[in-house]
Amino acid sequence: MRTPLIAGNWKMHLSLAEARALAAAVAGVAAACPDREVMIAPPYTALAAVREVAGERLILAGQNVCWEEKGAFTGEISPLMLRELGCRMVIVGHSERRHIFHEDNRMINRRLRGALRQGLIPILCIGETLAERDSAKTMEVLDQQVREGLDQVSLSDPARLVIAYEPVWAIGTGKTAGTDQAQEAHVFVRRLLAALYEKNIAAGIRILYGGSVNPANVDELMAQADIDGALVGGASLSAESFERVIRFA
Ligand code: PEP
Repeated sequence: MRTPLIAGNWKMHLSLAEARALAAAVAGVAAACPDREVMIAPPYTALAAVREVAGERLILAGQNVCWEEKGAFTGEISPLMLRELGCRMVIVGHSERRHIFHEDNRMINRRLRGALRQGLIPILCIGETLAERDSAKTMEVLDQQVREGLDQVSLSDPARLVIAYEPVWAIGTGKTAGTDQAQEAHVFVRRLLAALYEKNIAAGIRILYGGSVNPANVDELMAQADIDGALVGGASLSAESFERVIRFA
């Protein structure tokens, strides 16, 4: 019932020519895998070029979004601008936004609601730091990030929201959460969603895992009952490795 979603986050990487070539390759794989959704979040400056080769099945996303439609917000991008560039999804609350740029739950909630207002599907990223995990605060942190991130968000269609559980200590480090650790966090988040939304809505919201997902570990992660997809950084930057992740068994 939950269509798997494999999402690539290109962060601040690739030239225009590289972005276009990689997107064309990924579009071909997406077209060949109709039972799963494939998304990429290129740098904003590459969206127009990537759109030309994305085809019907490759979903484009922004890496962040402003809560306002327009105005004096230097350095931000409007949800309308993302829509105009063909985006259907947008990442909000990525750990790099939280920890390098100090975005808090309140700001992330504003971004998420701004995205929803304009018809973009937000991917709300949540996850604990190593210090929080070591002090047994993981579930407390996830609880707060989900509740505050989804404050004032009503949902009548579970496809309009995606959550990504990304332990901060696993992003870009080569360390992956154990499959049991990941599944445990996903079950916790799904229970939390069931407390916030109707049962059928909570059951239909996709929860992705992110944190050093690669060709070697994707099959085991995707075999977990509550892992509905992956948010992939490093391994989404090469056509070969991202294709293998998309084609998880
Ligand atoms: C990410 O950017 O969300 C991410 C999970 O990165 P990586 O796969 O490189 O750990």
